[in-house]
Amino acid sequence: MAIEWNIPEEHPGAGWVTGLLAVPGLDPSTGGAIDSEHQVLFKNVNIFDGLMDGLQLRQNVLVQGSKIKTISEAPIEAGTEVLVIEGGGRTLMPGMIDCHCHITLAGDIPDIESDFNHGDVHLNGAVAARHMFLDGFTSARDVGGSPFALKRVIDAGKFLGPRIYGSGAFISQTSGHGDMRARNDPNPTLCKCQDVSNLHRLGFTQIADGRPDVLAAVRQNLMQGASQIKIMAGGGGASKYDPIDTTQYTADEMRAAVEAAEDWGTYVCAHIFTDRAINRFVSAGGKSIEHGFFMSEDVVEMLADKGLFVVPQMWGMSPELFNNPNVQVSKHAAIKALHEKYKMFAPWLLEHKVNIAFATDLLGPIADGVKSRRYEMYWRTQAFGSNFEVLKQLTSTAGKLLAESGPRDPYPGLKGVIQEGALADILVVDGNPLKDFSVLGANERWFTETRPPRPVDTIQVIMKDGHVYKNTI
Ligand SMILES: [Zn+2]
Repeated sequence: MAIEWNIPEEHPGAGWVTGLLAVPGLDPSTGGAIDSEHQVLFKNVNIFDGLMDGLQLRQNVLVQGSKIKTISEAPIEAGTEVLVIEGGGRTLMPGMIDCHCHITLAGDIPDIESDFNHGDVHLNGAVAARHMFLDGFTSARDVGGSPFALKRVIDAGKFLGPRIYGSGAFISQTSGHGDMRARNDPNPTLCKCQDVSNLHRLGFTQIADGRPDVLAAVRQNLMQGASQIKIMAGGGGASKYDPIDTTQYTADEMRAAVEAAEDWGTYVCAHIFTDRAINRFVSAGGKSIEHGFFMSEDVVEMLADKGLFVVPQMWGMSPELFNNPNVQVSKHAAIKALHEKYKMFAPWLLEHKVNIAFATDLLGPIADGVKSRRYEMYWRTQAFGSNFEVLKQLTSTAGKLLAESGPRDPYPGLKGVIQEGALADILVVDGNPLKDFSVLGANERWFTETRPPRPVDTIQVIMKDGHVYKNTI
């Protein structure tokens, strides 16, 4: 059944209501644990496996239970109950992975800071998760927020969404990037209280100063179900009391976070930009650099030598930022100067073969989030100069980063690749994303895009954990 999304532009919100109800080929009734004998056979597909620059032509793929069982050019024998999907030469690829997002910060940040209650957070987060999933993202590393209730209902098959690797609340020092209090709010470290702001009450942020409080904050997130820990180790663009050049947390506080995470078998990632902060964080045992734009080539080399990860949302380095109404005109000159100074960021990451994972830094109103995700996909192919490179960041390298959660990985198994034995998170796409990224929804317009986002019609099959959720073939 075709759908019509011709919503008048003066009522963009209406597009969202329609879009929620009218995605063709959607089966919202499946989900939860899958029968280990359940089979799906994809016939005649061209495989992008997440690793190789090219397609393996005219293949057949048998999924059984939650895993890929057989890949073969020869016809595959399957049981009589098998669901057959005729690929017709379409591209079969791994489900995409967003390694840096904030699914439950799905609203205007000032509203979340002052007005949102738990209902607002989780209902809006659920809608954002659904859009992410229908854009072909089958896993999400949520590095700050309150995603665990949402994760539980998605895992139980009650709602559409990606697999969620949650960090839980941001862990920040006083006046750090996660300290979003007003100046007149009590300081939780000094008053020994946590009920100090709406973001604390919602479980979005924890202020922790000194080794004992950092240990407790990390353990609190692990208790909630965190797969990895996120700390704020440097200044930010949007926050109030921490200039972007600042280094946050002492070496000992960082080590405390790493020790508590490693005792649970997992790792720490950090919001961080500068050489000074990154060197300190890596010496403390940190594994993943979130954002990281302002690093020197020496630091890039060091990260490559150690096999660590960089997870940048590349729109931060894009000229489209100057069309963003939230970026004040008075800051344009300073941002342009930073873009010029650090223009070698992407080339150096590629040249030194650093592990780069895809990131949107998704947050804010839901429609804006969809637009920024699709713009990021486009802009990234420009910034890194190759569709294949970005596809790798979206699939196999992202899967490698998720696996760093070790025993705290909520979904153990090979991720981000099409291989026998890998988890069956699969897209079938009409077109070849190695040649044309728009078949995955990439859009070169961001703030200049005024139409409400439509479903990506070229993503025709979405499978997660062996379940087919969308099929328009
Ligand atoms: Zn972020």
